[in-house]
Amino acid sequence: MLLSAEESTLYDNTREICRTVLGPMVEQSPHGELNRPVIREMGAAGLIARLFPKSIGGVHDSEVSAIDLCLLREALARENTAVETALAMQGLGSYPILQSGTPMIVDRWMPGVCAGSVIPAFAMTESTAGSDAAAMSLRAEAVPGGYRINGSKTWISNAPDADVYTVFARTSDDGARGITAFCVAGGTEGLSGRAIDMLSPHPIGELTFDDVFVTDDEVLGVAGGGFKVAMQTLDLFRPSVGAFAVGMAQAALDATIAHTSQRQAFGGPLADLQAVAHKVASMAVSVHTARLSVREAARAYDRRGLRSDDGSPAEDLTLLSSMAKLHATEAAQLVIDAAVQLHGAAGLQRDHLMERLYRDVRAPRIYEGASEVQLTIISRALYRS
Ligand SMILES: Cc1cc2nc3c(=O)[nH]c(=O)nc-3n(C[C@H](O)[C@H](O)[C@H](O)COP(=O)(O)OP(=O)(O)OC[C@H]3O[C@@H](n4cnc5c(N)ncnc54)[C@H](O)[C@@H]3O)c2cc1C
Repeated sequence: MLLSAEESTLYDNTREICRTVLGPMVEQSPHGELNRPVIREMGAAGLIARLFPKSIGGVHDSEVSAIDLCLLREALARENTAVETALAMQGLGSYPILQSGTPMIVDRWMPGVCAGSVIPAFAMTESTAGSDAAAMSLRAEAVPGGYRINGSKTWISNAPDADVYTVFARTSDDGARGITAFCVAGGTEGLSGRAIDMLSPHPIGELTFDDVFVTDDEVLGVAGGGFKVAMQTLDLFRPSVGAFAVGMAQAALDATIAHTSQRQAFGGPLADLQAVAHKVASMAVSVHTARLSVREAARAYDRRGLRSDDGSPAEDLTLLSSMAKLHATEAAQLVIDAAVQLHGAAGLQRDHLMERLYRDVRAPRIYEGASEVQLTIISRALYRS
């Protein structure tokens, strides 16, 4: 899919700054921890601003640009997945605030997020409510002037060290309609947490809410409208999870072409074996089609003002977004598995690029809606239409 000259430059420059500045910074720090200097540097380099509108320090006239988000995530993932995740979380953690916060709350947090001095997090999952997020039980009781929140969240990226949390909590027993979104400052009295160690280094943890008070102004959107806030956020971010997967798969493909061109076996380079060359060709096709589906979903998101003749939305964004996430993350898993295979034992050595990618590629098939959940969303949309 064609990119404008400006978009191509953004993609190339992002790779370059990650390769020369941000990646080396990450590699010198403990892996899997929230890395404030890198996030500040991303802010200073203007990368985070590409996610946001001019009103809060970003570059866009519109609220967000899904295609820029996808281009940044793909470009960073080709160079360094830890840098990529840090950028993605600046967007995911804060988008509900931008989208649904009062002007006062937006002004309080968003310029700092955009500059890289404020770290946000998106707190939806609970130990007993993951894919079935509407079953969450974190409670927010209405009290004079606001709410008191009690319960816990887990597997929250950037927890427990984030500066601000978008928290989804139950304000009534009315299923998905009983969920409200809140903006909770890190360090609020009663809020605590601990880090969790994952297969692939990732700043992530659990949160405990012990009578945490939030004011009415810290409600994001309307009471009972929290599930919609979350789903609108995921419509934007799911294609970009696909872009993350495409970036990793492209990195694996590039490394595999280089490796099989020089690795000698049976009297010549591995690439001379047709079975190897055909596998590499199939990998390239998978990366290409995954990229197309991701960019198509992102372009559709950016055109979301468009209406059909009958006034209905011209495209089903949720459908395109789910398809892109599903297709790209599943394709990347297969591509990276093939890349590991073609690297042989070398690819499994600790800290080899293939070994890292093999671990990094696994989680995106689970978070922001597991692949099976995407299939349910897609099939529902098909039968509805
Ligand atoms: C690295 C990482 C980062 C994360 N970051 C965040 C974050 O920042 N914020 C946040 O809120 N959460 C985050 N999560 C949590 C993530 O969103 C959940 O893990 C995800 O929603 C799945 O929930 P679960 O793990 O409880 O799995 P479960 O819901 O228990 O599902 C387990 C498996 O059952 C199958 N399954 C589930 N539902 C269905 C279905 N309807 N049909 C068919 N099969 C199904 C799938 O195979 C699924 O993988 C993160 C997770 C990881 C791994």
